[in-house]
Amino acid sequence: MQSAAPAPDTDACSRCAEASGTCCSLVPGQEEFCFPLSGCERADMQAAGAGPEMFFCQANTPAFVDNLCRLFPGETEKLRQLFPAEGVHDRLAVSPDGACQLLGSQGCRLPREARPYYCRLFPFWIRAGRQMYFEFKDCQALRESRGGAGLLKRLGMTETGVFDLYHRLREAWGLTERK
Ligand code: SF4
Ligand code: SF4
Repeated sequence: MQSAAPAPDTDACSRCAEASGTCCSLVPGQEEFCFPLSGCERADMQAAGAGPEMFFCQANTPAFVDNLCRLFPGETEKLRQLFPAEGVHDRLAVSPDGACQLLGSQGCRLPREARPYYCRLFPFWIRAGRQMYFEFKDCQALRESRGGAGLLKRLGMTETGVFDLYHRLREAWGLTERK
């Protein structure tokens, strides 16, 4: 990181960061499952100060592709074209303990609008055209909410905003919209 100042975040995410939780760490050894970064997401991150050491070139392992197929049911064929077995993709670089290199003591060091779409969406997702959320036990906002409406409020998001981010993620990752 070079120039981005710590980003003010929702209170819940700040408390999550202080409690060393957050959705910004993975279990060491599970790095291949990190979501992919498109070229435009990487460019936005770099423009906000993320240096090349914040990215990692990851092989499209079978486990990675299978995981993506679970995220986007019914789109296996397209995903295997986008992430062929012999190919690679960019992902976030993580430290040996599994934390994203962009994670600071108060949360992500990138301004929210420069973060990857997946980060901005989490813990929300769209499944069969409907908003849902992942039951991530370490999510402070989830612990403090009762259901999706409360979670949206906790995270300063709206249902429209979730759909918009999801569609932008699909476009960035090369997934054409399904009617
Ligand atoms: S880019 Fe920011 S929000 Fe995304 S995982 Fe890294 S620290 Fe968390
Ligand atoms: S979205 Fe949830 S898990 Fe991620 S930093 Fe915020 S409170 Fe923590």
